[in-house]
Amino acid sequence: MQGCPVYHWTVSETLPPCPECASEYTYEMGALLVCPECAHEWSPAVSDEDDAGAESTEIKDAVGNVLADGDTVTVIKDLKVKGSATAIKVGTKVRNIRLVNGVGDHDIDCKVDGFGPMQLKSSVVKKV
Ligand SMILES: [Zn+2]
Repeated sequence: MQGCPVYHWTVSETLPPCPECASEYTYEMGALLVCPECAHEWSPAVSDEDDAGAESTEIKDAVGNVLADGDTVTVIKDLKVKGSATAIKVGTKVRNIRLVNGVGDHDIDCKVDGFGPMQLKSSVVKKV
């Protein structure tokens, strides 16, 4: 009986490889997937929408930087906010974004200071 105390994950479960370093030794930690090789943590894609092919499309900002959960970005143009008299101004910093499969092209879920939680398009932000 040789029990390894560390490697608890089951082989039968196929987890997606690490998006950072393509390691296949990813494992689940709560709602997150974790890569033991580069310590990258991310949320597995939720497939409640029928995204045929299910390829992991990278979400990029306005200048082509790949965005990740937890990134801080700045808004690169004034954004009108539904139900608000004020717009989100250019240069507004948005911390701790979450990449989502949102409504329309909205692929960032975040909280904007003074506005509250909302979804943004990756095309209107720039990674800090
Ligand atoms: Zn990795």
